[in-house]
Amino acid sequence: MNKPKRYTITTALPYTNGPIHIGHLAGVYVPADIYARYLRLTGNDVAFIGGSDEHGVPITIKAKNEGVSPQDVVDKYHAIIKKSFEDFGITYDNYSRTTAPIHHETASEFFKTLNEKGEFIEETTEQLYDEDANQFLADRFVTGRCPKCGNEDAYGDQCENCGTSLNATDLINPKSALTGNVPTLKQTKHWFLPLDKHESFLKEWILEGHKKDWKPNVYGQCKSWIDDGLRPRAVTRDLDWGIPVPAEGGEGKVLYVWFDAPIGYISSTKEWAAREGKDWEPYWKDKDTKLVHFIGKDNIVFHCIIFPAMLKAEGSYILPDNVPANEFLNLEGNKLSTSKNWAVWLPEYLEDFPGQQDVLRYALNANAPETKDNDFTWKDFQARNNNELVAIFGNFINRVVVLTNKYYEGIVPEPAEFNEVDEETLASVKAYPDVIASSIERYRFREAGQELMNLARLGNKYLADAEPWKVIKEDEARTKTIMYVALQIASALATLSEPFLPFTSEKLKNILNITSSALETSWNEVSTKKELLPAGHQIGKAELLFSKIEDDTIQKQLDKLEASKKANEAANKTVEPQKDTIAFDDFTKLDIRVGTILEAEKMPKTKKLLKLKVDTGIDTRTIVSGIAESFTAEDVIGKRVTVLVNLAPRALRGVESQGMILMTETPEGKLVFVNPDDASVGNGLQIS
Ligand SMILES: [Zn+2]
Repeated sequence: MNKPKRYTITTALPYTNGPIHIGHLAGVYVPADIYARYLRLTGNDVAFIGGSDEHGVPITIKAKNEGVSPQDVVDKYHAIIKKSFEDFGITYDNYSRTTAPIHHETASEFFKTLNEKGEFIEETTEQLYDEDANQFLADRFVTGRCPKCGNEDAYGDQCENCGTSLNATDLINPKSALTGNVPTLKQTKHWFLPLDKHESFLKEWILEGHKKDWKPNVYGQCKSWIDDGLRPRAVTRDLDWGIPVPAEGGEGKVLYVWFDAPIGYISSTKEWAAREGKDWEPYWKDKDTKLVHFIGKDNIVFHCIIFPAMLKAEGSYILPDNVPANEFLNLEGNKLSTSKNWAVWLPEYLEDFPGQQDVLRYALNANAPETKDNDFTWKDFQARNNNELVAIFGNFINRVVVLTNKYYEGIVPEPAEFNEVDEETLASVKAYPDVIASSIERYRFREAGQELMNLARLGNKYLADAEPWKVIKEDEARTKTIMYVALQIASALATLSEPFLPFTSEKLKNILNITSSALETSWNEVSTKKELLPAGHQIGKAELLFSKIEDDTIQKQLDKLEASKKANEAANKTVEPQKDTIAFDDFTKLDIRVGTILEAEKMPKTKKLLKLKVDTGIDTRTIVSGIAESFTAEDVIGKRVTVLVNLAPRALRGVESQGMILMTETPEGKLVFVNPDDASVGNGLQIS
């Protein structure tokens, strides 16, 4: 493509059954925002489009479980998600939602056009049906064994263990997620998009056309799909939550969420254009528009195969120029998981690190899973902040601003003659816009972010080598030159940091007093302008851009995760399988009685053992019990207990124990007495 006339940038529509976490931000939204901000700074016409995905089965299941309507669920999370994007400076031109009327209308029209053009196959097939719930079971409504890997908990649309895309009827031993019933088969009619019909076009367009410019992970996934052979794919579902199928026989059916969701990009663009008094169509239909989808790797097939096939079948739309999908971000070595609460949620992050959005944006980008799955660790987050943002970027800016105020009352000094280092430094600064741009345009946002930090490094090193704080004692003219050069670097940083650190960039522009249009520098002007901050310009006072993050702050986050881990382990602790069957006679051999602990003392030189005197109703006897890690002697005196009284006596640490107190243990490892909760049960009564 020659230089595009305009850009349409879309981001995966987050699913509105929960808030968003750092994995979403790192994989999709931060890179997309860097790209959009960069394109705007370089004077491009950009439509940066997003929205919430509000249809589909998981939302109806969540609503059912919580006893609310699906609309309640999506209203709640749409608001939370939208606010997170605003809080983190994601500069959407429009953020819409798929329950919006304009989307229902757009998706409905899209379906009708394809239907009228004969682009669907209508087929009546047998689908799984839950007789008690009166409902067909597809997608997340049904679980069963994956035919490919044997995972017992595969869903009706996908096995999360091996990633295979499934039809509900592929599952072995399917079970209804609604009632646990074994489903029956019942006939139902659906509309299918015959992907096989588009195979040769997809082969040519992707496998030949995008071999070089698509990321290897994206290209590879597409190739494997196409090589496996494409099959017709249902675009409708038997559900009542979604967009009604606008066709004869479509009663009680809705568009499959994966058919309607990507059309959400188009309807969100329409909503934006209507508000701005623009024409939406060039953003989707003009071949000089560059369309880029930012997504995670789990969405590759939908954005590279299914949606393009839909667009192609419709006939009037352009296709994506690139789909720079990222791999997954892990957290402290484990897969991010909503259900296991193994995540850093954006609203929670802002509570713990108020005003530090840029630190997270920076750390996530520095570690983005661009070519492989990557790990977010709190230690790395701390190091990125303390060693890069504070020690390099922040330190440089602070020195420049403090010294300019100290020496020249905040006025940019007139430089004298530049020496070789000055010239080289100023020339290097002018090269940065291109260096960073080249990385961004190849979707290498990590590399771009590191180049930005290299510019700050350059400034930091220049000042440290030039030592104006020493030079000022002997050479005033030289000091002025040094400070002038350093101020030019600071100004370049204010402009070039905007895509990566938008809040910091704004703060820095305020400090340097360059928010007025006369002094505002565009991306390319960093290279072309003779000077960014002219002599005589008044800057403001120093303000800290970043602050050090201490170990105890990081420890609190690690503790939070540790608590999640413990809770998960407790929840997942499996119930022991039943032991071998015994005869009734075997049971009656056990003589179990109710008793009361009369005395207790800790056994010397042991951690676990308490020596107890127990009234068993038969006698008062000594029992040694391994409960000292859970109870003190005082805790248990007077306690009602159940005692196995006819256990053969045995010596423990030299004390003869005559029986056993019955206990159970919680998943957290806490011991609990098994005892009658009725005071009328006296000591010595038998348990049978
Ligand atoms: Zn599987």
